[in-house]
Amino acid sequence: MRQQYELTNYALIDLDAIARNVAALKARVGAAELWAVVKANAYGHGAVPTARTALAAGATRLAVARISEGAALRQADVSAPILVMGYHTPAEAEAAVAYDLIMTVNDDAFARALNDQARDAGKRMRVHVKVDTGLGRFGLLPDELPSFLQRLTHYRHLQLEGLWTHFATADERDKTFAHKQFAMFRYAAFLARDRFDIPILHAANSAAILDMPETWLDAVRPGIAIYGLYPSTEVNATVTLHPALSLISHVGRVRTLPPGASVSYGRTFIATRPTTVALLPIGYGDGVHRLLSNRGQTLIRGQRAPIIGRVCMDNIMVDVTNIDGVQERDEAVLIGPQGDDRITAEEVAAWAQTINYEVTTSLLPRAPRMYADVPP
Ligand SMILES: *Cc1c(COP(=O)(O)O)cnc(C)c1O
Repeated sequence: MRQQYELTNYALIDLDAIARNVAALKARVGAAELWAVVKANAYGHGAVPTARTALAAGATRLAVARISEGAALRQADVSAPILVMGYHTPAEAEAAVAYDLIMTVNDDAFARALNDQARDAGKRMRVHVKVDTGLGRFGLLPDELPSFLQRLTHYRHLQLEGLWTHFATADERDKTFAHKQFAMFRYAAFLARDRFDIPILHAANSAAILDMPETWLDAVRPGIAIYGLYPSTEVNATVTLHPALSLISHVGRVRTLPPGASVSYGRTFIATRPTTVALLPIGYGDGVHRLLSNRGQTLIRGQRAPIIGRVCMDNIMVDVTNIDGVQERDEAVLIGPQGDDRITAEEVAAWAQTINYEVTTSLLPRAPRMYADVPP
């Protein structure tokens, strides 16, 4: 039986599932280090508890997109090395030094600012350089790399530790482009290592961990897989993963409407028969996507209760005509298991025309994260 809380809405995070996922991924990659990607509030799961759990389960570092995310982990006394992967302006370099973050440097202006800040603080900062092998986002193109690395050697307060790239299509069945990206990265790294000391190479996201063993190198950077979700339906499930997040609400009031009555804004649902409607006080202000209007489903008493009418900011209405005995305070599940059924993040993603990543990441703070198994 699942732990219950006296809250109307909450996201229940199973930290034990996260620990098992990290351990299983680590077992798969063997000698490569596992760096847990906990950006965007750990894909909605809560950055600090997720980080602690992943580290206890074998992750050796954390990775985030923003300096602010690294700072928040430091403020919670997380002391593990933190790699910052995203783009930053020179003005943000001071915080990177203050919070001891391992920055990815992609340009001269940021490198100079980081070096100046490190010098002022009397520190030497490890840095990584990103190689753009085809994602077309940021990083150095392979032919820009040698001269950039040469210029980096002039910054006495920066120490080049790693070189990395990121795949555009590792989650697709056709790996042609991913292989091309990886070959380009290997070659760029081979040339660079001839002239510069670069201890760590890394490339693999969750999809590459599952499907492309040759890309594991010195470290892997799983995100979605540590939360128990697969990056797409096209990857092979070479590791068994356990979804960690459930989204729970409760029935507010239950009322039977006559034929012809309408439900919610815009009157997009009109009852064609006597319809028993349950109010769930959760809406897009909590992260329930409005595209679920007249399309999504919930679980009540182990059965499917479809969302009728538009999703509101604070409420949704569900049709419980076919479910016996629904009462106020009954649990309603929007993501996760109930009884013998389960609503997956992938199902919700299909209703909302998005991907599982966005479903969990878009949960808002008004639905508090509760932890089934708080780590020490
Ligand atoms: C988000 C991110 C990852 C993790 O990707 P998943 O598909 O969630 O495993 C890895 N590397 C970089 C650079 C990222 O931005």
